[in-house]
Amino acid sequence: MHLENDRPFADAARRSDLGRLKIVSEGAPAIRRMPDGTVKQVGPLTDTRVWTVPGRAHRPLAAPRDEPRPLASGDHDRLCAFCAGRYLETTPEKTRLVGTDFAELRHVPAGELFDTVAEFRRFANLFEIVSAEYWRENHGFRQPAAVVEWAQRYLSTPEGRAHLESLAAIRAASSGEHVSLEEAALDLLGGSHDVIVARRHVVDGATSDDRLASSGTLTPDEHAAYIAYTVRSLAEIQVAQPHAAYVAVFQNWLRPAGASFEHLHKQLVAVDEHGPQVDHELRLLSHDRALYQHEIADLAVEQGLVVAATEGAVAFAGVGHRYPAFEVYSTSSANLPQEHSAAGIRAVSDLVHALHAATGPLVPTNEEWHYRPPGAPWPMPWRVVLKWRISNPAGFEGGTKIYVNTIDPWELRRRAVASLTALRDAGAIAPDIRIGDECTPADAHLRYAEAARDADDT
Ligand SMILES: [Zn+2]
Repeated sequence: MHLENDRPFADAARRSDLGRLKIVSEGAPAIRRMPDGTVKQVGPLTDTRVWTVPGRAHRPLAAPRDEPRPLASGDHDRLCAFCAGRYLETTPEKTRLVGTDFAELRHVPAGELFDTVAEFRRFANLFEIVSAEYWRENHGFRQPAAVVEWAQRYLSTPEGRAHLESLAAIRAASSGEHVSLEEAALDLLGGSHDVIVARRHVVDGATSDDRLASSGTLTPDEHAAYIAYTVRSLAEIQVAQPHAAYVAVFQNWLRPAGASFEHLHKQLVAVDEHGPQVDHELRLLSHDRALYQHEIADLAVEQGLVVAATEGAVAFAGVGHRYPAFEVYSTSSANLPQEHSAAGIRAVSDLVHALHAATGPLVPTNEEWHYRPPGAPWPMPWRVVLKWRISNPAGFEGGTKIYVNTIDPWELRRRAVASLTALRDAGAIAPDIRIGDECTPADAHLRYAEAARDADDT
């Protein structure tokens, strides 16, 4: 929503057409500071109500941790089941990236897992959110011949058979259901909830277990390989699971943000519906194809909330989030991540990497990807939201649906600009990122709807 005189009424008319909550539309601006300093926000895409009350912004960001433990030699790659010394504790690998050029290897056999070092690797989640059984029972999905053949090949070596037997036993123990090894193997190889794991648990040379390797401690090139690999994997899962309406992509970092392991990883989960938030945005888009330009990008420019930009992406301090949140928008005319050029993906990656670096490795975060579901009728931009999980909504929030966020968007932007400037000076983030006031309104021009607009014009 905007502050121009006529806009709230236009918004009210548009929103009441949609039968939505009317309170939002009665002129409450998306963000405003009250005389006492309280900042009130309304999420432009969610209607989430958020208050930041003065005097709470200086609480520590890092989550409380156990005392750091010193690392003995050989510990650094055996700290958790995602570590590079424990490849057999995860399901058979779909792909891995090796070497300085991140060359991709497919279906590495169990007996060869330790012959190379995976910079990144992808495999099915042992404990899926949406299981192989779900697709089989609810959608009649049968694994294609390629997966059946891979399972037979994997079972044909003693190392592969032993690997699958141990994983099948873990699954059977947790589900209470016993199936044949052949069936279990198909489910373990052919799932559509994947994990992408980075090589390091702790940074190179770490001497204690709290020196975690986060997204922000990767080099910009490593991070770009990680993001491009995730985009390719997203496209592969979409093809492999024809009943999927959407593939959710996210990264939970540290336990307060929902991570089971403090080892850098992303997850991709195929789902057969894209969920109510996308539905809601599609309803808004049906009235205004330029929704994200009007409600997000223009608001950020007007309120001084542009954090950084590259040739192809822009980062805002987000308005109306339960947690302090950055929003990285692709400014490309492409919609789905996999429709972006290599340079377009890199542009998004560099900003996401820089914001992780500015956040630091000890702050719990969620990274959430949003993009146009393949079947959606309206154009939507690819955006990545990075949330600082530094507070826990509790009784006040539950009772009122007003969320107290300790850092308002202006303060979030101020902190990020200071950190990013120092990181760029230190050579720790991509050198061509424009930061804070170096950005211009042109940086916040989103092109995701241009192809559709051109089509409308003809
Ligand atoms: Zn680990």
